[in-house]
Amino acid sequence: MTVLSVVQATYVVAGVLFILSLAGLSKQESARRGNVLGMVGMALALVATVALALQTSERPWQVTGALILVVLLAGAAVGTWRVRSVEMTQMPELIALLHSFVGLAAVLVGFGSFLTTDHAETVHLVEVFLGVLIGAVTFTGSIVANLKLAARIRSAPLMLPGRNWLNLAMLVVAAGLLVWFVGAARDGQDGAALTALVLVTLVSLALGWHLVASIGGGDMPVVVSMLNSYSGWAAAAAGFMLGNDLLIITGALVGSSGAILSYLMCQAMNRSFVSVILGGFGAEPGTAATGDVEGEHRETFAADVAEQLTHARSVIIVPGYGMAVAKAQYPVADLTEKLRSRGVQVRFGIHPVAGRLPGHMNVLLAEAKVPYDVMLGMDEINDDLPDTDLVLVIGANDTVNPAAQEDPGSPIAGMPVLEVWKAHDVVVFKRSMATGYAGVQNPLFFRENTAMLFGDAKEQVDRIIQAL
Ligand code: NDP
Repeated sequence: MTVLSVVQATYVVAGVLFILSLAGLSKQESARRGNVLGMVGMALALVATVALALQTSERPWQVTGALILVVLLAGAAVGTWRVRSVEMTQMPELIALLHSFVGLAAVLVGFGSFLTTDHAETVHLVEVFLGVLIGAVTFTGSIVANLKLAARIRSAPLMLPGRNWLNLAMLVVAAGLLVWFVGAARDGQDGAALTALVLVTLVSLALGWHLVASIGGGDMPVVVSMLNSYSGWAAAAAGFMLGNDLLIITGALVGSSGAILSYLMCQAMNRSFVSVILGGFGAEPGTAATGDVEGEHRETFAADVAEQLTHARSVIIVPGYGMAVAKAQYPVADLTEKLRSRGVQVRFGIHPVAGRLPGHMNVLLAEAKVPYDVMLGMDEINDDLPDTDLVLVIGANDTVNPAAQEDPGSPIAGMPVLEVWKAHDVVVFKRSMATGYAGVQNPLFFRENTAMLFGDAKEQVDRIIQAL
């Protein structure tokens, strides 16, 4: 048995483990197992790839081995430090940054492949060109997503005049450059071909930046999963350039699962998939993205909420990004247990884009050991809200905003929301009257049956537990 056949067999096993991992990640109960399978698959893939590199390298294996070791240790050190220091609330921006690395890697692999291989095969040249294009779009797109998620740049969409034509023009230029690149490379004009490759890199960097900058804050969940998909296609393109089957399989799995997730997120948010992947094509700028406070709100206090809870028979808790910021999931889990032990029906209403990551709230609540059977999706719980005594909105804002249904000019118009205002009473836990991620004022706060409980969500839930 040759090293090559062992490596190929290991790649097949790793590929199967990745598929099983994705299957596991599709349900909360099996997500942990899915993660473990994915990690085992990746470890096998790494070992096999290193073995292959040592076997096929033209340099002495010791030199190649030392180079790989240095790179592995450096990558592992940076990765370990970053993951240990990151706050849970910073995960989305970290993931966006990691997508940008995949894009950058595809660009570098493309240039490396062009400079070190012969240019006889048109298919290979097209692979190089597309790999660089997708990689560069992913790179800058992910950086803009990172900056928006970290609130380092404004989340409102950039509305350049003729922005759709601008995107189209960049794609047309890229198509022209492809023809030039392949023709020049096949004719042996390496300098001209390299110029075309550099130019498409610049155009694609601008395209990636513009595509993501044009998408509004409320649509960012779709962008995050879309960039996840792009990073998969960029990795698959790198796999084609390097002739590495496992990279092609892995890239295609990430690319297609990211595309399916983007589609599901679009459905959940009532957005057009095509519009979002084309950088907000057809979207009109909203008019209500102001932070002005209008109307009168009513304030309540922890002791009063505790009193309300002692009379309530059915309670729905709606968590949002603020619960993650406050790390309130643990006292929220304690409160749930306490109320349930007193015979109160307590359930959670989870919006598909609550928080900053798909599944963010489910992960936090599962971590705090809230039973899965009381966590219900928006569609499962919306009909029960009118018969609910009390809704506790803990750090959610955009996902409970009635303006999505009532104000056609709002940037979040059309997005399905949890209709908490239909319950008998609503208490909103937040620190101020500030807007949510989409920058839209929330009329819920001024409804007659809504009371505001100001302060850090964790401290307020702790106070309620004490008062109970
Ligand atoms: P929002 O981001 O709309 O609002 C969160 C609220 O939490 C804020 O209004 C804030 O108000 C409050 N808050 C912050 N810190 C605390 C704290 N310590 N204690 C109490 N309250 C706090 O949350 P939602 O979850 O409702 O909506 C998610 C938004 O993020 C949507 O617009 C969605 O599109 C977007 N998004 C979602 C992604 C995903 O995949 N899930 C990815 C990217 C974006 P205050 O400052 O007054 O306390």
